[in-house]
Amino acid sequence: MDIKEKISSYIDEHAEEMVADTMELCRINSVKGEAEPGMPFGKGPSEALAKAAEICGKYGFSVTNYDNYVITADMNDKDRHLDILAHMDVVAAGTGWTVTEPFDPIIKDGRIYGRGSSDDKGPAMAALYAMRAVKELGLPLSKNCRLILGADEECGSSDIAYYYGKEPEAEMTFSPDSEFPLYNVEKGQYRADIHKEFTDQGNGAVLLALEGGTTVNIVPGKAFALVRGVSQADLEAACVRTAEETGVHFEIEKEEEDGFSIYETYRILAEGKGAHASTPEEGKNAALATLKLVLALPLSDCQQMDALRKLWELFPYGDHYGKALGVALSDELSGNTTLSLNILKVDEHSLYAKFDARTCVAADEKNTVEPGAKRLEEAGFTAETAFNPPHVVDADSDFVKTLLSCYEQVTGEPGKTASMGGGTYVHELKRGVAFGAVGEFTDTHMHGPDEFMVIEELKTAAKIFALSIAELCR
Ligand SMILES: [Zn+2]
Repeated sequence: MDIKEKISSYIDEHAEEMVADTMELCRINSVKGEAEPGMPFGKGPSEALAKAAEICGKYGFSVTNYDNYVITADMNDKDRHLDILAHMDVVAAGTGWTVTEPFDPIIKDGRIYGRGSSDDKGPAMAALYAMRAVKELGLPLSKNCRLILGADEECGSSDIAYYYGKEPEAEMTFSPDSEFPLYNVEKGQYRADIHKEFTDQGNGAVLLALEGGTTVNIVPGKAFALVRGVSQADLEAACVRTAEETGVHFEIEKEEEDGFSIYETYRILAEGKGAHASTPEEGKNAALATLKLVLALPLSDCQQMDALRKLWELFPYGDHYGKALGVALSDELSGNTTLSLNILKVDEHSLYAKFDARTCVAADEKNTVEPGAKRLEEAGFTAETAFNPPHVVDADSDFVKTLLSCYEQVTGEPGKTASMGGGTYVHELKRGVAFGAVGEFTDTHMHGPDEFMVIEELKTAAKIFALSIAELCR
């Protein structure tokens, strides 16, 4: 038997145990909670780390706990060469579960259902079983492979910031917190908080409020505007026209009379479609459609309306690539820079907006941050900008080539690299890539209700990882 076959039968023989360990971890609600002494992310994440430490210890790996930020499990005490980075915290349970309760994992139709099954407890166990396979099969290693399990991936990755403050980055790192085959390019992230105060107020027909979006990385699917002194007929006509032009649906409600104003007030509710900021094309931005609608109304002129017109010039509905802001760029490696304005909050006194751009590899301070800042300033806004450069690991490196070859040997499918708009766990690492553990075409409802992990895919991942460890640490 060659190494690949030995690994394959080992994983097949231990698949039930791997599933059982995964389910045991999924039973722990490890959503981030209030910090407590010695538990920086609260009880749940610490409990999940403790359970993971117990499992790693049971299979003979030496475990270290880094103050409940992360735990590590080492294969041996040789030179650290390969790190595998996964996480034990999960996103909130949310609603809409139909197959089981979020923290009561079950097996159904060859899948493990439960929060964390695919993000990222199952993949973490696939990595652990890969280490177990290499160890128990006695495959020769001249270097160490370390499993790092974090407890704060979902809320800003302060866990690995802490860990890498104490330990150097390994020669190579992969994170099974994504999909196969392999992501070696992650776009950069460019965001700005935009402000404007108004010193005057319109009379007669005015916009009292416009709000849409609460989370910077989500295209808002809902928004509303509060308008006083515009006739219902004018509002209806504008709603119909804007709906035709944007695909966003509007409803008008008359507000209760306050007894003081001689004008009537209407609330306009907009319903578009939410999407992740890295794929704004898939959404219908309700906040921007509402802005378009408001600008079509016969409202009295004032600083507020002037600011809204200028905002629209920089962020028109449907401009997914930042053309109007002057930051549109694209390259072969990562495609287009994408941009969407995802938070908008306006009243009679001030305006606040925030956009999220995922910048292509070619983007930098000079061609993106500076021109963007210039246009915002020219339009009279104050803006605080944050730019996190893109992440690229050479596709022709031995590391990436070896991982892809292991993927091909186990699956028989062609291995290839890809780029993504979202940042992963390895974004800040120089030599880190996202590798598995979910199959290329499987939607596991990560972060949503009925999250699952396909058991066959978990086994495949464990085999690919074992082969990778055997080759990279030989
Ligand atoms: Zn994850």
